[in-house]
Amino acid sequence: MTILSHDLRGVGWSSLSRPAQGDPTDFSEHSRCFGSLDLDSSTMQPKEITELAERWSIAGRGGAGFPLARKISAVSSASRLGRSPIVVANGAESEPLSYKDRVLLWTHPHLVLDGLELICAAIGARESYLCIHEDDTLYGYLQAAVDRRPDHSRVPPLRLVEIDGGFVSGQETSLVSFLDSGVGQPRFQPPRPSVKGVRNRPTLISNVETLARLAQAYHQDRSGSRSGTLSYLGTFWTRKGGVVYEVESSHSLNDVLALSGEPPEVELTLLVGGYFGSFQRISNTLRSTPLERIPSTSLRLGAGVLVAFPSDACMVREAMRVVRYLGSQSAGQCGPCKFGLPSIASELESIVRGGEGSIVRIWERTRQLPGRGACSMPDGFSQLVQSVLHTCEEELDDHVHRGCTRVDYGIIPEVPRVGNNDDDAVGQRVRRH
Ligand code: SF4
Repeated sequence: MTILSHDLRGVGWSSLSRPAQGDPTDFSEHSRCFGSLDLDSSTMQPKEITELAERWSIAGRGGAGFPLARKISAVSSASRLGRSPIVVANGAESEPLSYKDRVLLWTHPHLVLDGLELICAAIGARESYLCIHEDDTLYGYLQAAVDRRPDHSRVPPLRLVEIDGGFVSGQETSLVSFLDSGVGQPRFQPPRPSVKGVRNRPTLISNVETLARLAQAYHQDRSGSRSGTLSYLGTFWTRKGGVVYEVESSHSLNDVLALSGEPPEVELTLLVGGYFGSFQRISNTLRSTPLERIPSTSLRLGAGVLVAFPSDACMVREAMRVVRYLGSQSAGQCGPCKFGLPSIASELESIVRGGEGSIVRIWERTRQLPGRGACSMPDGFSQLVQSVLHTCEEELDDHVHRGCTRVDYGIIPEVPRVGNNDDDAVGQRVRRH
């Protein structure tokens, strides 16, 4: 996979996309750019941070969009029962098409650490983790950033943790399971990690961009803007490759599409939200509407992945690579997921190749999947497959009856299947430091 640029390209620049000067691990440069934290952890109250998160409408940027203020309140309530809370920064980006968290950690590590420090101070956490996927270069780089923060007494002991695994390895309960046992595997909920997480203690798990946005809101608040809208990071793919972008919510999909420099398609098809997203034909009205005014029922950006396809692209072959990969990613502990996903994927593949299979049966089977697993894998798979059946109806019909003459651009790559549903591969391989 090619990332055209590791720079954050701005469509409407904000302070987060301000190019980092010099070495991003340099804390003094970070402080000059954003300001420093002025925390008194002995007197700071969760209310201060929940109000900040509410004023700036900060919601999870890992894909789920859960309001951060509610997470903070839940963990601080649970910790009033006498169990000391833990904070986990989730930078274990498992979505194969998403690079935003890695780019953020490389370009603004201290902004993420500021956010982590803010939450720890607010809820009284004396222990924290930063989880990333296995990557020796990034691990050493982040360790250098941590070491260069000046006042370690204010930061609770932070452990950098690398995990290696497939699609569900970055899922919240999978992280809890790994930090507890060294094996990452999603757990049934309730109890939620906010009540019973790492070592049964109340645990706040937050995506690294969410933490960076909290820190950004804090710094902007201090400099006089009391509320506002924060921009979004995402990864945008075209046939030229991928680029991590930052867009302010007052901008539209057309502004993002202009980043590609390709002529705008009259009929636009996107994969919105990545592997747990959906294939959608985008109307002209939707593509010119500011992102902040588009209801989530019309466009769910999730972790900000957008893939744009030329109008002569074979959507079915592009989509099949997503379905095939997801079909291999069950962690193997829930029957409908372990057996249902690969079998639906192979039936769809057979239809695409002009073989036997029933689209009606696939509709029926995907309808039965939601809510049938410990994690959201069956739900996400079901949504994705249904969007393929709905959006690519014409292409599927061509594949079955006439043969397809469209072009396979290979915009969505074939992803190596790490972690699968073989019995001996239950759980995700992990590494601890
Ligand atoms: S739903 Fe699938 S991926 Fe999730 S825990 Fe169950 S078997 Fe594993």
